[in-house]
Amino acid sequence: MPELQDVLDRAAAGGRISPAEALELYVHAPLQALGEAANAARLRRFGDNVATYIIDRNINYTNVCVTACKFCAFYRAPKHEEGWSRSLEDILRRCEETVTLGGTQIMFQGGHNPDFGIEFYETLFSTVKAAYPSLTLHSLGGSEVVHISRVSGISFAEVITRLKAAGLDSFAGAGAEILVARPRTAIAPLKESGETWLEVMETAHGLGMESTATFMMGTGETNAERIEHLRMIRDVQDRTGGFRSFIPWTYQPENNHLKGRTQATSLEYLRLVALARLFFDNVKHLQGSWLTTGKDVGQLTLHMGADDLGSVMLEENVVSSAGAKHRSNRMELIHMIRTADRIPAQRDTLYNHLLVHRDPAEDPVTPEVRSHVSSTALTLTPA
Ligand code: SF4
Repeated sequence: MPELQDVLDRAAAGGRISPAEALELYVHAPLQALGEAANAARLRRFGDNVATYIIDRNINYTNVCVTACKFCAFYRAPKHEEGWSRSLEDILRRCEETVTLGGTQIMFQGGHNPDFGIEFYETLFSTVKAAYPSLTLHSLGGSEVVHISRVSGISFAEVITRLKAAGLDSFAGAGAEILVARPRTAIAPLKESGETWLEVMETAHGLGMESTATFMMGTGETNAERIEHLRMIRDVQDRTGGFRSFIPWTYQPENNHLKGRTQATSLEYLRLVALARLFFDNVKHLQGSWLTTGKDVGQLTLHMGADDLGSVMLEENVVSSAGAKHRSNRMELIHMIRTADRIPAQRDTLYNHLLVHRDPAEDPVTPEVRSHVSSTALTLTPA
């Protein structure tokens, strides 16, 4: 095994590291050295210090689900009195609000409702696209394709082809959780295998439908299993190139059947972000999560190789309370990026820059927001 610094230098220079080397780095490399190498890899790939965000809305269209993942606090079993599904009118209203507030993307995420086959999704996507053609539909994931395939009795390829024809633009990376069999079975015994999830993604990529890939860490997996999750994605990416970004986040331990399991620490999360930047020589974008880890950790991910902080995420209560909160959220995100010594830029789903906030003096940030977001002026790496 080469010295850790040699491996870091190779990865920072764009060279490939093996899963065994990745595990060594993840467990043993000093945090600062890991961050510096990851930041160098980020800078080498992008050539600037821009960090992006997107304005989008997550629309949960049903909470009815037959898959009963143990980590999920959202779902209700079919016929449960708290089960619900949104009407098309309700969904269209939410899309309208999203457009009004400057959003460019909709993420439809929902349970595996046994009443929803391919026709439901065809109607949903074609109706939304017809009404709001400016919205990019970056939605569903490998698990939904498997579910639709079962409900409608058609192949993965036909599901994907029909969803695409109806207006779906790309798949979100949802449902990946952890792809490795042991921990995946422990937390989601009724969900498709990690191999099947990847098969769906590979099929989609082959049909011209790109996606992202995610990782929910902190449900009891080992360090080696974390690296194995990355390896499984990298291998598919070698064949398809269809994963636009990798988005790790941390499991939240409230209101579900896994309550009490260890959540990934902030340090583990930051190390994983840095490792992902070094390991994925073939995935361009890396998103740091601040919703699940907090704003300070979100800022630090930008010094651990992340080039994106994800979404402003227009929530229902936020939107319905007249938009002020939305502006505040966007302001905070811009300020978080700025005070992490990065140049904020609003992006679209394809990571094209829509608005680069080059001049700090023009940041739409109020004194109130400035006082709410701490600064990472003491950055781990030179600006
Ligand atoms: S498939 Fe999705 S909605 Fe259903 S239980 Fe699992 S995480 Fe929750």
